[in-house]
Amino acid sequence: AKVAGKNCYRFYSRAMDQAVSRRVRIEQDLRGAWERGELTLAYQPIYRVSDKTLLGAEALLRWQHPVHGQVAPSVFIDVAEQSGLIETIGPAVIRAACKDAMRWRHDGADELFVSVNISARQLRSGDFREQVMAALADSGLPPHLMHVELTETAVLGDEEQARRILSSLREVGIKVWLDDFGTGFSGLSHLRRVPVDGVKIDRSFIADVLRDPDDLALTTAIIAMAHSLGMTVVAEGVEKEGQCDLLRTRGCDLAQGYWLGHPMNMRDFTALVG
Ligand code: C2E
Ligand code: CA
Ligand code: CA
Ligand code: CA
Repeated sequence: AKVAGKNCYRFYSRAMDQAVSRRVRIEQDLRGAWERGELTLAYQPIYRVSDKTLLGAEALLRWQHPVHGQVAPSVFIDVAEQSGLIETIGPAVIRAACKDAMRWRHDGADELFVSVNISARQLRSGDFREQVMAALADSGLPPHLMHVELTETAVLGDEEQARRILSSLREVGIKVWLDDFGTGFSGLSHLRRVPVDGVKIDRSFIADVLRDPDDLALTTAIIAMAHSLGMTVVAEGVEKEGQCDLLRTRGCDLAQGYWLGHPMNMRDFTALVG
């Protein structure tokens, strides 16, 4: 909750001294938030490391609370997940992201992908594949421009089910990325069992990569290992030019982070690509 808007953070954490009532309050406020237009998508540009070509963007939810201002995803995504609200917000995010990506195409940036975060519950909500296919069909976005990001914990549990769903997405050309890679306990064994096109190295590794030899060794090893499996590697949390330079020398494919571009609203991102 450290990046939450000043007001909402105080409201939701201090005034509500009971964790339960805090969650209930967030849940109440979140109900219908998409329909009221309080939830929007921000887009963070993702670049090819070798020549800094813009290749796509990650869609990140933003909640503008009518009273408390900006509420961070770290505050409300968990609540949306546990309350089941994600089952309505998630599909809305997918539809909006596809529509926005089509808009960039119309503006002349024809091969930009959009990458959408998918939570565990969303992945397993019976009709996930149908939701994605419908969003692609309705928007006209080619499947290869749709990426989904899942954390290792989201694919944990019923791995067979996760594997089935992800394989069926990949069959139509949708790209699957494993998010926050390196933070889970069984990253390597997952790569054997769950079919993914790429991994996103968690930003905790990138943060210290210039100073900490262990983080550099791990980052280098993840890149080499992913490449040997034919996977794409994305680094997140690139905040300094030096980090980007280092990632280039190590052969990292894609990168995102404040040094390359902050998450921005649709209007600003459209201006960036146009
Ligand atoms: P994530 O998927 O790991 O997203 C990257 C987070 O890192 C974003 O935080 C982004 O704003 C932040 N970030 C980007 N570049 C930098 C950088 O250079 N330095 C640092 N320190 N941070 C950077 P954000 O937007 O607060 O999102 C937090 C998390 O909320 C996301 O983590 C994701 O797990 C979740 N989330 C966001 N949107 C959605 C969504 O539509 N659906 C689901 N299920 N989860 C979402
Ligand atoms: Ca992500
Ligand atoms: Ca991540
Ligand atoms: Ca470290």
